[in-house]
Amino acid sequence: MSAPYQASASWAEQQDAADPLRTFRDEFLIPPHEGRDSHYFCGNSLGLQPRAVRAAIASELDYWGELGVEGHFKGRLPWMDYHEFVRDDLAAVVGAQPSEVVAMNTLGVNLHLMMVSFYRPSAERYAILIEQGAFPTDRYAVESQIRFHGYDPAQALIELAGDGPNGTLSLEAIERALAEHGARVALVMLPGIQYRTGQAFDLQAIAALAHRHGCTVGFDLAHAVGNLPLQLHDSGADFAIWCSYKYLNSGPGAVGGAFVHERHAEAALPRFAGWWGHDKHSRFQMGPQFVPTPGADGWQLSNPPILALVPMRVSLEIFRRAGMPRLREKSLRLTGYLEWLVRHELADVLDIVTPADPAQRGAQLSIRVLGGRERGRALFDYLMAHGIIGDWREPDVIRISPAPLYNRHADCLAFAQAVRSWHSLG
Ligand SMILES: *Cc1c(COP(=O)(O)O)cnc(C)c1O
Repeated sequence: MSAPYQASASWAEQQDAADPLRTFRDEFLIPPHEGRDSHYFCGNSLGLQPRAVRAAIASELDYWGELGVEGHFKGRLPWMDYHEFVRDDLAAVVGAQPSEVVAMNTLGVNLHLMMVSFYRPSAERYAILIEQGAFPTDRYAVESQIRFHGYDPAQALIELAGDGPNGTLSLEAIERALAEHGARVALVMLPGIQYRTGQAFDLQAIAALAHRHGCTVGFDLAHAVGNLPLQLHDSGADFAIWCSYKYLNSGPGAVGGAFVHERHAEAALPRFAGWWGHDKHSRFQMGPQFVPTPGADGWQLSNPPILALVPMRVSLEIFRRAGMPRLREKSLRLTGYLEWLVRHELADVLDIVTPADPAQRGAQLSIRVLGGRERGRALFDYLMAHGIIGDWREPDVIRISPAPLYNRHADCLAFAQAVRSWHSLG
């Protein structure tokens, strides 16, 4: 039997030529390096620009120029309900019902808005459970919410230490923490994929555990959305939030998203309100009393930033055509190839932090260089100088993320060859 993977250019090219999703790459602008396409592995940080975005933005600018305020009601896609034009595709990407998702604000803002509704501490139940080493925004947000409600993070912030290899966190550790602290935990707040380790979590299992202990549960899907096929509705999570500039390719600082489970749709939960969350049918009566729109739309504050939503609309249309199941299938092959190259060709140079079980990761592999941080930094600089674009996360991690919409087997091989060249320099 032949090996499932080979470290040759001809093999990689064959795989890419046979890839049913290969033409999607042509729909993106690949940043050049010295006159050729770079090997862009940073879709986990800033996804690439779909070519169709420029014309789509120009079209809205034309409507603005020609219609002025009438653009809210006229034009091909009237601005009034523009966020609704991305809703169905967004719901499909995260596995939710359309009424459970909304594109609005940015991740950090949405996290706070969701905690206003879903972190309602009481004298008995006041704590928030997060993972140790959480992304700074998430930690700052939960800590500031705890203080805002008059509690002390020293008692009310529970940071769960990784119990697995390389700081990964097992479901059993979460189970043990809830068995010990569950009665005082108000909110369990975990990532879909941990940004530093690349570990993917079982959202459904975590949500079930949290609910069994009477906690609400929310997920930060910054690194999971557009990367893993999600089933947010079935997961039972109370809420989720994400940004759209990573795998969703919606542009720098893109509009973020939020999910609120259907069971809260009509509950009139306390929230920070704005006119765009008001029931659409009576919004323009401009009454003094806030009546929330049922579902996730009811958390909107402001009328949507049309120009910022355009790239998301274009990008989600690409996701609709590609489909998350097919993207995941290709992603498993690409990341599997990258992993194989590291383990079989570069085991003397690199070590992988991300779990080896494909079910516990998305596109990203977090990689460490044997020999310590300084060597890691040197390799990272070498890669960047040679058009292999990844990113560096302190203290010693290089993140490499082949994104199935535009990366190829040839990119993974180029990464491995560049590491080998660097290593042979001594
Ligand atoms: C990327 C990322 C963020 C970024 O938040 P913004 O509000 O979009 O700046 C927050 N949390 C996590 C886990 C992330 O990966």
